[in-house]
Amino acid sequence: MARILSGKEVVQAMAPGLKERVQGCVEAGAQPTLAILRVGENPSDLSYERTACKRAEALGVGIRSIVLPANATNEQLLDAIEQVNADESIHGCLMFRPLPAGLDEAAACAALDARKDIDGISPASLARVFTGAGYGFPPATAQACMHVLDHYGVQLHGARVVVVGRSLVIGKPVAMMLLARNATVTMCHSRTEDLAARCREADVVICATGRAKAFGAECFAPGQTVIDVGINFDEAGNLCGDVDFDAAEPIVGAITPVPGGIGTVTTSTTMEHVIHSCESALGIA
Ligand code: NDP
Repeated sequence: MARILSGKEVVQAMAPGLKERVQGCVEAGAQPTLAILRVGENPSDLSYERTACKRAEALGVGIRSIVLPANATNEQLLDAIEQVNADESIHGCLMFRPLPAGLDEAAACAALDARKDIDGISPASLARVFTGAGYGFPPATAQACMHVLDHYGVQLHGARVVVVGRSLVIGKPVAMMLLARNATVTMCHSRTEDLAARCREADVVICATGRAKAFGAECFAPGQTVIDVGINFDEAGNLCGDVDFDAAEPIVGAITPVPGGIGTVTTSTTMEHVIHSCESALGIA
């Protein structure tokens, strides 16, 4: 039976330190505050917004909701981002993506001040992840994977890690972060040949493809650590990951569940970035 890498346990371990840091910010003159920028009423954005608000409240982080209509223009969106950039009482901004069709997502990401880009969407933040130079935060989900691996003491130095998925949200940044920790990283994607064999060779497998339960028993080997980033729905409409949990769990050494794994830690990581941004603005980071 595999060890279950519970996201809730990681969140509970992070909470006291984060609350203390919020208190430190308040004593130094500012409450860490997150702006949530939403365009339209996409149900998954609304659901994530509710989760983020609950976590923020639990930690003492302020929330400012900025909502634009689904038919907002590029100009309205850029205006909203400019207001966030100019408002010193806002320390981070979470902009839900994908944006409705017709909006220029690349321009919106580039317009956000890197100091407030707590989800690693601006070119400056990504440059930081890839070069190690400059200022910026990695995408919260990629950072959440690292938090889970670290919390459970998974050895990364010298480990063979397979990352499946090469998006800028998860696959590429998490690969860079693992490389920085001296893992030997193999990146796989939809054109990788014999994907199952590549996965079986690894000490750690990170699945971030968005394919419900696509990684079955053939992809895993005893002793492996499996990080399932996917948030999908199966044929019965139940929330599930990329990994077929029931098939993988009897084989591997440790595995994150879905729900209750990486997604749970992502929200706390977002708050951690907001707090860090506030500390930087106050000069106490
Ligand atoms: P994208 O669609 O941007 O990227 C998916 C990646 O998976 C691509 O690189 C693609 O390869 C690869 N892929 C697709 N099909 C296959 C296949 N058959 N074999 C191997 N690789 C494949 O998705 P995201 O990176 O944005 O998200 C991935 C998953 O993570 C989704 O389920 C999403 O919901 C979830 N997610 C979870 C979060 C959390 O907090 N836990 C936050 C954000 C996302 P190619 O490049 O060749 O097309």
